[in-house]
Amino acid sequence: MNTSRDVEIAVIGAGFAGIATAYYLCTEYQKRSVLLVDSRQPMTYTSAQSGDNYRNWWPHPTMVDFTNYSIDLMQRIALESSNVLHMTRRGYALATRRTDIDDLIAELHAGYGGTESDLIRIHRGPSPKSYPPTRSANWTEAPDGVDVLANQDLIRQTFPTFSPDIANVLHIRRAGDISGQQMGQYMLERIKEAGGKRLSVQVKGIKQNQGFVLEVEGSDGIERINVEMIVNAAGPFAKEIAAMIGVDLPIANVFQQKLAFDDQYGAIPRQLPFSLDLDDQELDWTAEERELLADDPDMAWLLRPIRGGTHCRPDGGDNGTWIKLGWAFNREASEPQQELANDPHFHPQFPEIILRSAAALNPPLKRYSESFPSRWTHYGGYYTMTRENWPLLGPLGVDGAFIASALSGYGSMSACAAGAICAAWMADGDLPAFANQLSLARYDDENLMAEIVNSPSKGIL
Ligand SMILES: Cc1cc2nc3c(=O)[nH]c(=O)nc-3n(C[C@H](O)[C@H](O)[C@H](O)COP(=O)(O)OP(=O)(O)OC[C@H]3O[C@@H](n4cnc5c(N)ncnc54)[C@H](O)[C@@H]3O)c2cc1C
Repeated sequence: MNTSRDVEIAVIGAGFAGIATAYYLCTEYQKRSVLLVDSRQPMTYTSAQSGDNYRNWWPHPTMVDFTNYSIDLMQRIALESSNVLHMTRRGYALATRRTDIDDLIAELHAGYGGTESDLIRIHRGPSPKSYPPTRSANWTEAPDGVDVLANQDLIRQTFPTFSPDIANVLHIRRAGDISGQQMGQYMLERIKEAGGKRLSVQVKGIKQNQGFVLEVEGSDGIERINVEMIVNAAGPFAKEIAAMIGVDLPIANVFQQKLAFDDQYGAIPRQLPFSLDLDDQELDWTAEERELLADDPDMAWLLRPIRGGTHCRPDGGDNGTWIKLGWAFNREASEPQQELANDPHFHPQFPEIILRSAAALNPPLKRYSESFPSRWTHYGGYYTMTRENWPLLGPLGVDGAFIASALSGYGSMSACAAGAICAAWMADGDLPAFANQLSLARYDDENLMAEIVNSPSKGIL
C-alpha cells in the first residue's frame, strides 16, 4: 500500500531522547502535530539496557551544568507526578586504595567550578557527625556537593562491605537512580494527551523537498510522510539517519555490558549507594585458570591489569533482592546490531569477569565466584558517542533538521535536558548558556575541542 500524510514534526526514534524531545515540544511549546516514529516499541532498544543511574559528577563544568539542568527537570516531574519516576538519591561512592588523591580533588574543583569549592567537604576524622546521613533514599533530603571520606574508620563505619584497603571515598551527593521506563511512560501519556501520535514504521529514506519527505515501511507497506521538521533521535542509528540527508556525524557505537542477579546471600546492603571502584586491577584467578587464559589469545588480556570502573548497586528498592553490576571497559567501536546480543563484544565470560572484579571493592561478592547466582541476566547495548563523550543536541546543519543523540552512557540521566534543549532550538525557546557547546557548532571552536578531546578523563562509566 502507498499512502502519504502531512505532519509538522517527525521525531525519529522512540527511545528516551526522542520521547523527551517530543514531550517538551508538546508540553512546553504546545506543538500539536508531532509524530514519534519507531519500528520498535518505545524504550525497548538502548533505553531498555540502561542502569538508570544519574550524577552531576563530571570532569568539565559544561557537563556538570548539563546534568544539573536535567536533574532539575527530573525533580520537576517528580514533584508534579508524586515521583512516578522513583527518583532516589543515595549518591555515587567512588572508592580508591590511593592515599594521595590530590588529582581527584583537583578534578572535583575543575568540574564543579571555583565558586562551588564550599561544596567539596573533606572529612579527615573518624567521627561521622559532620557527615550528612546516607541512609535515606529520599531525593529531597540529600545534600548537594561531595563528601570526601579521608579516614579509614569513617569509611568502615559508613561502608562496612568495602574492602579494608580502601583509603578514600568520594561521595557525590546529587546522584542516584530513577526508573527510566516509568518516566518514559509518563512522558508518552502527556504526549498523547497533547495530541502527539506514534507510528510503528522504519525510516528507509529521507528526501529534502520544501521540508522533508520520509519514506517509511511498516506492516501496511511503504508510506510517505511530508514533514516540516525532523529530529534525529535514532540512538545507535543516528549516523545512518543523518547520512540520509547528507550529514556525516562524528559518532561511533561502543558496546557495553551489565550483569543483574538475585543477591540470594545478601552480600550487598540495600542502602549501598551506586559504588564505583576507581582503581585499575588485575583479576583474581587461580593458578589453573591463569594457565588456561594464557593459552587462549582471545582471553589472555584478562591476565593484564584492566582499567578501573567496576560498579555495583542494589536494584529494586530497599525490599528488593537484585543487584546490578557494570564495567564499561570496552573501547572498540562496532556496527550496531538489531539484536544486541549479536554484537561481537557481547562476551559470554562477562558475568564471571565482572563478579570477580566487583568483589575487589565488595569482598562479600566473592561468594558468587565460588557458587554462581541462581537467577541472573547478562545484557548490553551501545554507548553512542562522540570522541569527547559530549552529546549532540540542536541543529543538524540542514534547514529544519535537528538532532538529540550521542548520549553515550548518560542518556537516561540527561534525557530531560537533551529533549528540552532540542525542543528549544526547534521552537526558538530559551536555551541554557551551554547549549551551543553541546551542538555541532562546538566543532568550530578549536580551543574547546582541543581541551575536551585531550582531557585525560571524559567521564565514561
Ligand atoms: C549497558 C548500558 C548501561 C547504561 N546505563 C546508564 C545509566 O546508568 N544512566 C544513564 O543515564 N544512561 C545509561 N546508559 C545510556 C542510555 O541507556 C542511553 O544513552 C539512552 O538510552 C539513549 O537513548 P536514545 O533514545 O538515544 O537511543 P535508543 O534508546 O536506542 O532509541 C533509539 C530508537 O531509534 C529507533 N530507530 C533507529 N533507527 C530507526 C529508523 N531507521 N526508523 C525508525 N526508528 C529507528 C530505534 O528502534 C530505537 O528505538 C546505559 C547504556 C547502556 C548500553
